[in-house]
Amino acid sequence: MFPETEVAIVGAGPAGLAMAIALADAGFAATVIDLQPRAALAAPPEDGREIALTHSSVETLRVLGLWQRLRADEIGRIREARVSDGDRLHASLDFKAREALGWIVPNHALRRVSFEAAAERPGVRLLPQSRLLRIATTPTQVELEIEDTAQASREPLRSRLFIAADSRFSTARRQLGIAADMHDFGRTMIVCRMRHALAHQEVAHECFGYQRTLAILPLAGDVCSVVLTAEHAAAAQLMELPGEPFAELVEAQFGRRLGRMALLGERHAYPLVTVLARRFTALRSALIGDAAVGMHPVTAHGYNLGLQGVASLTHALCDARAAGRDIGSAQVLAAYGRQHRRDAAVMYHGTNAVAKLYASNGAPQRLARQLILRGAQHLPPLKLAITARLTGRAGLRLPTAAR
Ligand SMILES: Cc1cc2nc3c(=O)[nH]c(=O)nc-3n(C[C@H](O)[C@H](O)[C@H](O)COP(=O)(O)OP(=O)(O)OC[C@H]3O[C@@H](n4cnc5c(N)ncnc54)[C@H](O)[C@@H]3O)c2cc1C
Repeated sequence: MFPETEVAIVGAGPAGLAMAIALADAGFAATVIDLQPRAALAAPPEDGREIALTHSSVETLRVLGLWQRLRADEIGRIREARVSDGDRLHASLDFKAREALGWIVPNHALRRVSFEAAAERPGVRLLPQSRLLRIATTPTQVELEIEDTAQASREPLRSRLFIAADSRFSTARRQLGIAADMHDFGRTMIVCRMRHALAHQEVAHECFGYQRTLAILPLAGDVCSVVLTAEHAAAAQLMELPGEPFAELVEAQFGRRLGRMALLGERHAYPLVTVLARRFTALRSALIGDAAVGMHPVTAHGYNLGLQGVASLTHALCDARAAGRDIGSAQVLAAYGRQHRRDAAVMYHGTNAVAKLYASNGAPQRLARQLILRGAQHLPPLKLAITARLTGRAGLRLPTAAR
């Protein structure tokens, strides 16, 4: 007889763990499978990613009990965002909010608190150091074969629903036969932390330079996250530069607006490949997180969209249970698929279009860049709409009876 779980999730990243916690809090039982050892999931290494979060994501993290677990020095506030084009130092476009446009938290801290919270939920079973070998979905159930890589043994697991959250290069997505459209930008993003002499005043900057794009994101204290995007070969050279000349280069590109800057810790490089799955569901299966939509980080929306997907799928499953329906049925999953496609598709294609435009240096593209920024700056409804999207507070709502 197969061991059983209601929902099997592959991937204990921030999306898979948020999903497991939301399901457990709504009264479902979930099993989460991940390749990494327990110690690496419990204390994830610093990976250079600083995750900008919308108000709605923060609300969801609060409902899941994750926000409360972050340390005060792990939370930065973004009060204002300024966008500049080419070699200009002054902003062509800016966004402000009275309290905060958004918040910023290290990815490894989000992973740590997600693991802690999931490990405390009786409804969540964690299977670290485990590899998904085989998925067989039938109209009535899902059968998985899992390899325990520590014991070199194989175990079966049966569930009513299977969720893939195993990154943008998801092997589970492939095993489910779901095609995905990928775009390789031919560029690499370098991320690191830097200390600076002058206060950042909680202002984020996106500087679309002609050689490199530079983003400066304010973290807690006199520290910022530096995000440099360049073609692969130029990025490889930037990774090789010793700390001091690297800091000088960033300082100069930023017009010394933060005074002297010094590199803190390691630089991390991420090749820019974006992914959009053609479908978010298959027989008794759903994709969430980057496995569904792997965004370009320029609009800082990957994890925010991942949390929206967690909320949409949780609502679809709770509604199904309340109506006495099978949580793995095509009708239930289609509701999630439609909702998540509505949330993700415009954001995905819009972000890719912006990233392509700002990666091109031809004269028409330069002109288009300036016109778009100036146009947006002088179109208050557009600025208001973008600000409202960042600061809107509708987060995950769980059925109160189940909590
Ligand atoms: C430089 C950078 C900056 C970013 N900034 C932002 C931002 O400001 N705001 C924002 O919202 N988003 C941002 N993102 C995006 C965000 O980091 C991702 O959307 C998010 O981490 C995706 O989480 P996930 O759980 O879907 O996938 P992942 O974090 O990739 O986790 C996948 C998990 O699956 C496991 N796994 C993989 N394969 C298997 C397998 N075969 N079997 C078992 N387990 C497996 C892995 O071990 C891992 O634990 C940024 C991304 C980058 C690269």
